[in-house]
Amino acid sequence: MFIYSQPFLPEAQQFWDKISNQTKQKILANVWCTRCGVGVAMIRITGTIQGESLVLHGHCASCGHLVARVLEGP
Ligand SMILES: [Zn+2]
Repeated sequence: MFIYSQPFLPEAQQFWDKISNQTKQKILANVWCTRCGVGVAMIRITGTIQGESLVLHGHCASCGHLVARVLEGP
């Protein structure tokens, strides 16, 4: 189960829905946090589309620092 701070924009949701749950979990469980200096879990996620890519913004589950992850489109 994922915790979202707000709904994804419709086009971002569409992109996100195409990704398997297993891959989503992998993505959200290992995001680089610049403050912690390690891969961390991402919480309070929002998704937007930039060009062809889905950009996930969220917070580090350990320290709360902002983290982001870009998923390139097809
Ligand atoms: Zn952190």
